[in-house]
Amino acid sequence: MRLRYDSLFIGGEWAEPHGTGRIVVRSPNSEDEIGDVPEAVEADADDAVAAARRAFEDPSGWAAWPPEARAEAMERLADALDTRAEDMAARVSGQNGMPIAIARQIEAGMPALVLRYYADLIRRTPTQETRTGLLGGSALVRREPIGVVAAIVPWNYPQTLASFKIAPALAAGCAMVIKPSPETVLDAYLLAQAVIHAQLPPGVVNIVTGGRELGAHLVAHPGVDKVAFTGSTAAGRSIAETCGRLLRPVTLELGGKSAAIVLDDADLDGHLRELFGACLLNNGQTCYLGTRVLAPRSRYDQVVDTVTELARALRVGDSLDPETQIGPMVSARQRDRVESYIAKGRSDGARLTAGGGRPAGRDRGWFVEPTVFADVDNRATIAQEEIFGPVLAITPYADVDEAVAIANDSDYGLGGSVWTSDPDRGVAVAARVRTGTIGVNGYLPEPVAPFGGVKDSGIGRELGPEGLTAYQQLKSVYLAG
Ligand code: NAD
Repeated sequence: MRLRYDSLFIGGEWAEPHGTGRIVVRSPNSEDEIGDVPEAVEADADDAVAAARRAFEDPSGWAAWPPEARAEAMERLADALDTRAEDMAARVSGQNGMPIAIARQIEAGMPALVLRYYADLIRRTPTQETRTGLLGGSALVRREPIGVVAAIVPWNYPQTLASFKIAPALAAGCAMVIKPSPETVLDAYLLAQAVIHAQLPPGVVNIVTGGRELGAHLVAHPGVDKVAFTGSTAAGRSIAETCGRLLRPVTLELGGKSAAIVLDDADLDGHLRELFGACLLNNGQTCYLGTRVLAPRSRYDQVVDTVTELARALRVGDSLDPETQIGPMVSARQRDRVESYIAKGRSDGARLTAGGGRPAGRDRGWFVEPTVFADVDNRATIAQEEIFGPVLAITPYADVDEAVAIANDSDYGLGGSVWTSDPDRGVAVAARVRTGTIGVNGYLPEPVAPFGGVKDSGIGRELGPEGLTAYQQLKSVYLAG
């Protein structure tokens, strides 16, 4: 079924767009058109920011609501998303190629979970405290909402990554303008419907659909108080420059090239599901994946065999088929990019052990075979640059010190994993890796814990109580004694 929308969601209503441009979405499975929506122009973004400002500055509005009332509204939004879960999973999977089984778990489940988590948190988290002073008086320390938020999200987990911003922003009392990626706009309309259903005050959540120019306009907009961005490191740098000039708070969740460190006592065969989740989830289109597998020389051939077999056994197919484990790349451009890295791996002399081409029998759709390269030098391009596809590079190491050194020899620092039969040993190695997050015998971002990167992987954290503070501004009120 082809979906068509003619309005934008601004100020709690379906607004007529100022321009006439359209964003057309194609199925990565068939390359056929599956929907189209208006392409917002700057005047639409201006309207959205104005609506958010009105909502935020309303003296009896969202920001002034008691935390309990905001929490209840957030729970209504979570319920409204739950009732749309299957449609949401299908829309995301149909647009970006995420296997539907994964979309059902993550894209259809995570946003409601995160909304309920922050609803609960804001109920329990005092927004002010009194501190006894040292100079005779006292100080009231208040956590106030930071204001109007511009939230810019990528296509790989459009709903989940939006919810990492929406939930803490709403909990804090902020109003927001969300800009989804042009590749995934159809799911954004379901979110808008859920916002209406949940009866959030008009203007608290606005959605404008457009590309990078619209994003840049929002980032620099004088009516915006904070920017929350997830996307590529290149775009993040440009956004950080703008925010630096404007002294505008910004959180940046950017790219990664994480290491999966297999220790000599690892039971990889007992953790194949976790290994898939940590290294290949969502067709390799996941920012934190451990796409550099570091294997001890003492068990090198065995690790190469296990990873190679895992990749070869994966079911590649239509993303909407519940049996599919690896779907297509989001776009022809992304498929070409992945293929160019595979060609680079070959020409640099890495040993191809799985995949390397397009799956047989698929002349439509942007598919790439799960691919494994062994004997990869960590300085090689395929070990240093983010490929964002189902391509793994295996590098041998002599001892744990060398494994840690290789893991840290990267411009990025977002995720990672350590595989071992001894969890304490795993944690000790994890502590030595320069990264924002890391797993032991698996990797699953946990909503209660801060998520984010170091080095070129970004600035700031989402999720956990720390993710709430990014949407709050501290104010000290000095009370004379
Ligand atoms: P992208 O940076 O091209 O686009 C992301 C979003 O930013 C889109 O909505 C896009 O329209 C917008 N945008 C692009 N340039 C902009 C600019 N200069 N100013 C304002 N907005 C701009 O990234 P993508 O290709 O959509 O996503 C893939 C990238 O995202 C990968 O590098 C991946 O690692 C990263 N990512 C990071 C995380 C994380 O949490 N760290 C999560 C998912 C994806």
